[in-house]
Formats: sequence, structure tokens, C-alpha cells
Amino acid sequence: MPIRRRTLQQIQHSLRQGELTCLDLVRSYLDKIAGQQDLNAYVEVFDDEALKRAEELDLIFKSGERPMGALWGAVFSIKDVISISGHQLTAGSKILEGYKALYSATAVERILLQDAIIIGRVNCDEFAMGSDNETSVYGPVKNALDPTRIPGGSSGGSAVSVQSGTCLLSLGSDTGGSVRQPASFCDLIGFKPSYGRISRHGLIAYGSSFDQIGIIGYDMDAIKLSYEIMQGPDDFDGTLIPSNQKSSILPDAGPKLRIAYISDALTHDGLHPEIARSFESFTELLKTEGHEVTTVAFDLLEYLIPCYYVLTAAEASSNLSRYDGIRYGYRAADLKQLDEMYTKSRTEGFGSEVKRRILLGTFVLSVGYYDAYFAKAQKIRRLIKEQFESWTSQFDAIILPMTPTTAWKIGSGKSPVEIYLADIYSVLANLVGAAAMSIPLGYDDEKLPFGLQILSATYAEDRLFFIADHMRNLQQRR
Ligand code: GLN
Repeated sequence: MPIRRRTLQQIQHSLRQGELTCLDLVRSYLDKIAGQQDLNAYVEVFDDEALKRAEELDLIFKSGERPMGALWGAVFSIKDVISISGHQLTAGSKILEGYKALYSATAVERILLQDAIIIGRVNCDEFAMGSDNETSVYGPVKNALDPTRIPGGSSGGSAVSVQSGTCLLSLGSDTGGSVRQPASFCDLIGFKPSYGRISRHGLIAYGSSFDQIGIIGYDMDAIKLSYEIMQGPDDFDGTLIPSNQKSSILPDAGPKLRIAYISDALTHDGLHPEIARSFESFTELLKTEGHEVTTVAFDLLEYLIPCYYVLTAAEASSNLSRYDGIRYGYRAADLKQLDEMYTKSRTEGFGSEVKRRILLGTFVLSVGYYDAYFAKAQKIRRLIKEQFESWTSQFDAIILPMTPTTAWKIGSGKSPVEIYLADIYSVLANLVGAAAMSIPLGYDDEKLPFGLQILSATYAEDRLFFIADHMRNLQQRR
């Protein structure tokens, strides 16, 4: 499915030359959305609003009353876990049916201030829990490269909206890979900033110490620009760090990079041989280009998944207690007893994956099991972080495959545990709070794409963009 992919710079050039208007742009995206509804990427298309905003921006440009914002001509889709004032916000769940956001997320406000246009709200796994976009109350999203396959998740709608040419960029959320993994299954770039970079105000909480808003696109410069616009302190989020905080461990990456990869990750059982082969040949290419490539051992690899799932389920069980049938969305009918109403609203409102996580989370936090599971997982998280910091004090970047496999078939009947295990490479960045990106690496024998994951030291986004750009150029030349 060849899609003409214009960069933001090209779009802005055409707008400035008068060869294109924002209205033309939005109309052409809306046509593409209408022609590809079967992909199920959008849960709400903001047709009228986007057209109106495009017209307004065209007028402002024509009148010259003010300089245009940095994201002029950038059309975004937004994952259904990020608030857009006046629009429904449901996290792909029945329990939020009918709920309207009362304010916009800080990230959304910041892109709008720079003249971005929002074209719609996109599908995702329920409460961002999932890796295949099959847990949404709106039904599965289809991968535009092969509609019998999943697009990845949980930000599957975000990835497919960009992949199918219906917008330039999409905002998703990444708790354990949900921006990077669907990007890799859809042949796109997925970027998750360090924890504490982008305000979580207006983002529905899943695992609060893991969640970050991330960006999916094909235009690296546009991704970087939107990140720069969204990041930085916000009075509504106390976990943010000052904008000028940079990783002080290493000087900015020079032309000769010091790259490490985790040897155990490459010998991991479930890794698709073509992904391993392609990854290894890429490391050879890096060496021939004069970069230093070193392997590092990682004893804690097998603890990543259990540690991640214990901690995120614990945080989710607490975060999701607010959906009780009273404050937001869905309420079970005809009930006289309050506790019965809570139970019934939650029983009917939540899907099975969300219930599984609430049960698991409540269990690991309960008296008698807290020390055995939750406290232990926190200690392991600390060990993982220390190991990661020792790597990033010696290397400019750590590279990993993004996923062990390519996109699987919709309805493949994988068990929850099989699906969790597929997050083996993606959860590390969230456990340690580091910035990470997936860039396209290759295709398997069925022409399904997979990605290369690059991680840099926490707060070293500048270095990450520099390295990712360099690796992408190398990759495109091979
Ligand atoms: N697949 C992971 C999970 O289900 C990641 C989700 C995410 O990043 N939101 O928890």
C-alpha cells in the first residue's frame, strides 16, 4: 500500500508557497479515513472541528497577523487515553462510556498552541493494557500492511492512523512499550521520552510510575519537534523534571559511537531468526562504519517481565479503583445497594484483561503477599536500574530488538502469558525510566516489518535523536 509520505518540512514549504492549504490537507486526510474505516483505527473523527480549525489557520496565514506556530500543518490523531476538552474519553472501555473530558491534557494544549490540528481520537487496548489492540471495547484494529494481522498495542489505533496516511503524527502512551511496539509492527518510528519529561496531566493513568506520552510517526524531525514542544514542567504534574536537565554522564555523542547490546537478548528462545539475523548484520554494519559495538551480559533479563507485570498491575489496581460507577461513565442500572452498584458497574464495565490485572494487582498488594511480590519486584526494579545506569555511563546507547516476533494474526488465541512474554524487550525502558525509540529495521519472509530499539541514558533525548537519526540513515542505505 504505497502512501505518499510528506514530511512536516515539505508540508510547511507547500503551505508557505501557497500550493497547499490546511483545508486541502485536512480534506485529503478525511477522505483517507473514510476510505479505510474497516481498519477500525478511529473511534471518533473530528471532521467539522478539524475543517474549521484548518480554515482558521489558513486565514491567519493569509492575513499575516502573526507568525505561524512550529506545528503548523501537522495533523495529529490522539489515543483514546489522552483528554481533549469537550470530547469523549473512554480508554477503549465500556466503563467510561459517555464520559467527556472536561479539560485537555497538557500535551494536547501545547501542540494546539503551536497550530497543530487534531483529526480524531484513536482506538487502543482497554486502559492501554495489551500488546495487540484486541482488548478494546470497539473491537480490534487491523494492520494496514495485512488486515488479517494485529497492529500491535496498546496504541494500535495511533500506529495505523499514521501507517494508513490519515495523519502525520499520533500521540500514544507507553507504559511498557505501547508506542514503540505498534510502531515496529507498522513500519514506523515510535518514541518514548524519559519518565518525567512530558506531563501526564490529562493522561488516563495505568501504571503511574511507568506511563509516558509518546509519539508515533515516520518523520523523525517532526517527532523531535513535537517532543520538544510537549516536554517540560507543568504545575499539574509533580513528577516532571526541569527542561534543561540533561544527562551529565557522557559528552554529547560524537561521530564514533559506543554502542552496547545485551547478548542474552539475542539468544532468547522466542526470538524470530530473521530478526536476530537482521539485528546482527546491523551491528556488523555499525562496526564497519567505525563505531564501537560491545556485548554486555544481563543476568536480570528473565526478571523483566515478572517485575513489570507485578508492579504495573499493582499500580493499575489502585488507579482503576476510581471507576466505581459513580464518578465517571457507565453505571449498572436498578440497584438499591451501594456496594452492589459498585460491583455490578465494575463487573459489567471492565473487560477481562483489565479485570485480570486488577485481580493480580490487588493480590500482590494484599497483606501476606506484599513483601513476597510487590516489595520484591520493587527491589528488582532497583537492581535493573542500577545495571542500566552502569551501561549508560559507559556507552552512548543500548540497542535491542524491539520485539521477538512480527505482528501475529488477529484472533490467534494466544494466552495472556504468551502475550506478556512478547514484551521482553520493551519494558526495560519503562522500568528504568529511560528514553527509547523504535526505528524500522527490516522485514521477515512474509514481508512483515520489525524494529530496532535504541535506548539512551535517562534524560539524554538529544543524544537519542542524534543516534537514531544516524542509525536510520545507515539502515536506509543498506
Ligand atoms: N503490553 C504492555 C502491557 O500490556 C504495555 C502496555 C503499555 O505500554 N501501555 O502492559
